[in-house]
Amino acid sequence: AGSGKFFVGGNWKCNGTKESISKLVSDLNSVKLEPDVDVVVAPPFIYIDQVKNSLTDRIEISAQNSWIGKGGAFTGEISVEQLKDIGCKWVILGHSERRHVIGEDDQFIGKKAAYTLSQGLGVIACIGELLKEREEGKTFDVCFQQMKAFAGKLPWLYAVPSWDNIVIAYEPVWAIGTGKVATPQQAQEVHVAVRDWLKKNVSAEVASKTRIIYGGSVNGGNCAELAKEEDIDGFLVGGASLKGPEFATIVNAVT
Ligand code: PEP
Repeated sequence: AGSGKFFVGGNWKCNGTKESISKLVSDLNSVKLEPDVDVVVAPPFIYIDQVKNSLTDRIEISAQNSWIGKGGAFTGEISVEQLKDIGCKWVILGHSERRHVIGEDDQFIGKKAAYTLSQGLGVIACIGELLKEREEGKTFDVCFQQMKAFAGKLPWLYAVPSWDNIVIAYEPVWAIGTGKVATPQQAQEVHVAVRDWLKKNVSAEVASKTRIIYGGSVNGGNCAELAKEEDIDGFLVGGASLKGPEFATIVNAVT
């Protein structure tokens, strides 16, 4: 971890019931979380209100997705305004499951990010390569292309209003939900490259202050080694975030 405040997000994905979420919330309310870490959880939309009303204010709430613009006649979508209304502070955008299972592309994701930021919510901006892309030596190219969309560097995007509210999550797709975590060196190498990209394409200030977190099979056993790397500023956690005590171990990994 570097000098920025460590950031750990729990992505609950499409998991849980009223009952299991109530248990998870009560576990999270009772674990010890180091004070100097930003902690966020992303429940499924329909449970956000339940979580917001029962979870300690110590942990902020994120959505797992949002609509691209203002709400209206968009059946099945949830707007950023609605997320704000129920107390969300963050939105995860560009997650690999949305890119590769649902089919969202850079243009759609970049526009969602710009809109979300314009409405004052933070964005957990996910990037990461497929196994095939890594094997072909394209990891950096893929990550940089995805960064361009978040940075408003593609011709069809309006400028991203501010970098204060963006956390970059590097999540190699081959590591997500597979139990195959990137080595600390593999993650560090990409984090350095992304930081360098920010320096060249945005500014030195943004490069040094933007948190770049790692996601992909992080658990209570491997988090401490990863957290030692200079450019790993936190984690985005899927499976292990469904267990309160293990999630707390990951939050506290930096200390
Ligand atoms: C994720 O979905 O963002 C993720 C990193 O999942 P997992 O921790 O289960 O690999």
